[in-house]
Amino acid sequence: MKPTLQNILDKINGTIALSFSYQAEDVAALHLLLQSKVPAFEVFTLDTHKFFPETEAYHEDVERFFHITIKRYYPDPTEVEKLEAELGEWGMRWSLENRHQCCEIRKVNPLAKALVGKSAWVTGLRQAQSITRADLTLLEYDEQYDLFKINPLVLWSDADLLEYIEANTLPVHPLYAQGFKSIGCAPCTRAVKEGEDIRAGRWWWENPEHKECGLHIKGKK
Ligand code: SF4
Repeated sequence: MKPTLQNILDKINGTIALSFSYQAEDVAALHLLLQSKVPAFEVFTLDTHKFFPETEAYHEDVERFFHITIKRYYPDPTEVEKLEAELGEWGMRWSLENRHQCCEIRKVNPLAKALVGKSAWVTGLRQAQSITRADLTLLEYDEQYDLFKINPLVLWSDADLLEYIEANTLPVHPLYAQGFKSIGCAPCTRAVKEGEDIRAGRWWWENPEHKECGLHIKGKK
């Protein structure tokens, strides 16, 4: 018998955390966790200081809708100051190395702080999102952060996600209505055309196999 989300959650000893990055997937994963029998879990976001204004408004909407608090983890201010002095406002677009440096400081390092002391990390990742996510599984062991990673939506199609959101009348980020199919930092995210890949609007100047921010690299130590 294949394990269900509840089977897996029942076996976790310790703190469970859900990373919330304002995707439609995240709101579905949050709803699934709230429907489960897990007594408590943390919901956190990585506040890069590069959010769209719409993201701030949506953050409040989600907190109000679910009666929760989304905990913010921030980058180190000294590292950000140095980064901005070196790269200016748009330097993350000049090279893959610059972009990775920005993601490392604004996302990867704060994620490491967010996951300290956690036993399981729940995400909204799906195989169908991109070629970089095609080999995801429901339950993984994340060696880098030494915890279980649970991806309850791993096999969901785009249609499954839409159906779940509509059936449960969940709030989605307002930029979806303007052609965005994935939500990220303002300098690195744009709307996509009909028929384009759902992550085509993220770091659109890069090759598809590079389109990860370093948060979900399998086997990275
Ligand atoms: S997505 Fe863009 S702005 Fe955000 S952390 Fe990565 S490079 Fe920096």
